Order: sequence, then C-alpha cells, then structure tokens
Amino acid sequence: MPFTSMRDFRAAPRLLASAEGHYYRDVQGREVYDLFSGLWTSGLGHCHPHIVEAVRRQVGELDYGLGFQMSHPLAFGLAERLAALAPNGFSSVFFTNSGSESVDTALKIALAYHRANGESERFRLIGRARGYHGVNFGGMSVGGIAANRRAFGTLLPNVDHLPHTFDLEHNAFSRGQPRWGAHLADELSNICALHDPRSIAALIIEPVAGATGILPPPLGYLERLREICSTHGILLIFDEVITGFGRVGSAFAAERFGVTPDIITTAKGLTNGVIPMGAVLVKQEIHDALMTGPSEMVELAHGYTYSGHPVAAAAALATLDIYEKESSFEAARKLETQFEEALHSLAGLPNVIDVRNFGLMGAVELAPRPGSPGARALEIHKRCFWDERVVVRSAGETIQFAPFLNSRATELVRAIGSVGRVISATD
Ligand code: PMP
Repeated sequence: MPFTSMRDFRAAPRLLASAEGHYYRDVQGREVYDLFSGLWTSGLGHCHPHIVEAVRRQVGELDYGLGFQMSHPLAFGLAERLAALAPNGFSSVFFTNSGSESVDTALKIALAYHRANGESERFRLIGRARGYHGVNFGGMSVGGIAANRRAFGTLLPNVDHLPHTFDLEHNAFSRGQPRWGAHLADELSNICALHDPRSIAALIIEPVAGATGILPPPLGYLERLREICSTHGILLIFDEVITGFGRVGSAFAAERFGVTPDIITTAKGLTNGVIPMGAVLVKQEIHDALMTGPSEMVELAHGYTYSGHPVAAAAALATLDIYEKESSFEAARKLETQFEEALHSLAGLPNVIDVRNFGLMGAVELAPRPGSPGARALEIHKRCFWDERVVVRSAGETIQFAPFLNSRATELVRAIGSVGRVISATD
C-alpha cells in the first residue's frame, strides 16, 4: 500500500466497498463522509453518473488504440480542451498516467527544450524544501521531503532547493496567503549567483504546497519567482497536480494567482480520479522549439504505453463537461469563506498550533507528541474514521482537508465539527 504503515493498517484495516456522491461505504456497511475528495482527486464526488457512463461506453468502443505510431480523436480533443482552460500562450499537452509521471515528463521537456534551443549547458534543476513532486526519480530529486529521499541514496545530481515558506512565528493562523515571506523567493537569485544562471534549466514548485501541509505562497512570492526566472531564462514549472481543476477556485492556480508559468503538470482532478491520467501542459514556444529537430527524428523521445489512453481520455472529457456545466470552479470559490470559517473555528482546540487554508485546501497543525512524531495526527485521522465516520488525511503533524467542489455547506461544516470533537478528545 502507498505510504502506509502496514503494521498499523493490519491492526484495524479501513476497507471501502463502494462510494456514491460525498460518501464512501466501508465493508462493514458504514457510511463515511469523505472530507478529502478521494486523495485530492474526486472534487465532483464519487461515481458521478456522467463520468461512469462515459467510461462504460468508451471501454466497449475503443479500448486501446495507441501503440506509439497511432492515436485517436479523443486524445486530441482533450488536449484542445485543456489548452483552452490553461493560461494564454499554452498550446500543447503531453499525456501521462499519474502526477509523478507528469513531473518527470515536465523536467525532461524542460531539459529537451533548452537543448533544442542550443543551450545544452542548462542542466540544473531547482525544487523546494517541503516540496512534493511524486515518487519517480526526477520528482523525488527536486522534492524536499527527507523521509521520502533517505532510503534511496544518491538521487539526480545538480539539483538545488529553495527554502520552504512555513513559518509559525510570522504566519500562524493566516487566512489565505500569508503576508510574511515574499523575500524567501530571493534565494533563487542567490542560487543564480552561486552557479552560472545559464546552467539552470527549470524551477519546479507547487503554487500551494499540498502534501507537506498546505502552505499557501506568501503575498508577492510567486510573482518574484516568475520575475527571477524570466530574467535568467529559467523555465518555471507549476506542479498543479493538486491545485488544478477547481481546488483553488479556478481552472489552475496560475489563473488565481495571476502568475503564468511555462509548464503546468496535472493529474488527479483531470479525470475526477476515476481513471489514472495526468497531463503536462506547455507553452507554444516550448512546443515549437521541440518541433524543430531534424525531421527524421522523434521530436521528444519520451512516452508511456498508456499516454492518452482512450478510456482515460473519455473520463477526462466527461469530467471537463461537468466542470463546465456545473460551473464547479466558481462553486468552489463561493464555498471558500464558509470552509475558512469552519476550519478556523478549530483554532482554540487543544494542541492546535496553526490553522491555514487556501481555496478548498486546509490544514490544522498540531503540536507534536514528545518522542512520537506524527502520532497525534495519525490517531486523530483514525478516530475520525471510526468514531465520526469522516475521512481526513494526516501527514506529519497536520490534519488536512480537501472538501468537494460541490460540497453541501451544512454537511461540510458538520464534518469539520466532527473532526473538532476528535481533536478535543485526543491527548
Ligand atoms: N505532485 C504533487 C503536487 C502531488 O500532490 C502529487 C500526489 N499527491 C504528485 C505530484 C504525484 O502524483 P501521483 O501520486 O499521481 O504520482
């Protein structure tokens, strides 16, 4: 099981049998409210009939149809829809099967782009402490989670990391973007000064760090990063595997923050989690540079057996239909204030040392139990499931929340209240 303590899981397995809308049903037949939208995946709720029907139809009509030298119209149609949702200037899409694959694809595209432009000396990649970019070698190397790296020895060479922006002294209990910390972006200038900036290919960051505890960017921070990247010809990659498709009340966080990267990675909400699929979106100039290679060559020697799989593409197209028809991104934006209020009502509870949120992403930070890092959050996560029938996520010292884009406000507020009861009852 991914990122799971098997010993702990076996002691009391949480096994799900079915799902509908905003609820799971476990193998004991208990209904459980999902306060995490799957794993940031299922913003429209589970087993959405329109997506289910699209998948059923597609699997009986064209079940594969790729094989490197072939494709099918759904993939191209989906690419066009995605380019239209992306910020101005984005023209092209490369399909993957997960967030991790999207990240490694994006890093490779960045390196290939510079080579195509005659700048093969741009090999250095920059990530960020507390960044999570999946588990493949590129993503792990630019990622900033020590526990995920430690067991695997040497990763990619020539990778630097910016500092993270987590700071309780200045930013505790911020609502939305914290005020303090824009200057932390200047570390990118220091890295440029340390190395020749012409050796740097790309900077990858999550606009709002997700897995490591919901860290919204300080006001002005992303703008500064954009400026420094532009000055030095460094590509800026936004890893929007979580923040894409309505999670922050817009198609992409790039739109919400008004900062346009050069490459966007996605997965999760692309298909509402129904079929694994990811996509890397690139600006026209990146596409064009890659297309200028010698004509007998494959323009980008990269790809997966299932890149642009027709069943995944059908699921994604059906998902995009619903986002549009139900104005899901606007609906998420409208829900933000109620979510924020409900979440910050947990501020005074025992052991709560921070509450933070952006869009429909939220976290409660708990004081660590001496000698048992993460134990309090994990216990709360389990008690929420067993005692209150609510799914939240625990990671490190945080309890994390990712409500559905179409949550009913009363249910959402009630479920957050249930989590509050568990926090109060946990030593
Ligand atoms: N990037 C980010 C920002 C993520 O949050 C995740 C997964 N949570 C990934 C990449 C990796 O995605 P996957 O687990 O689908 O490989």
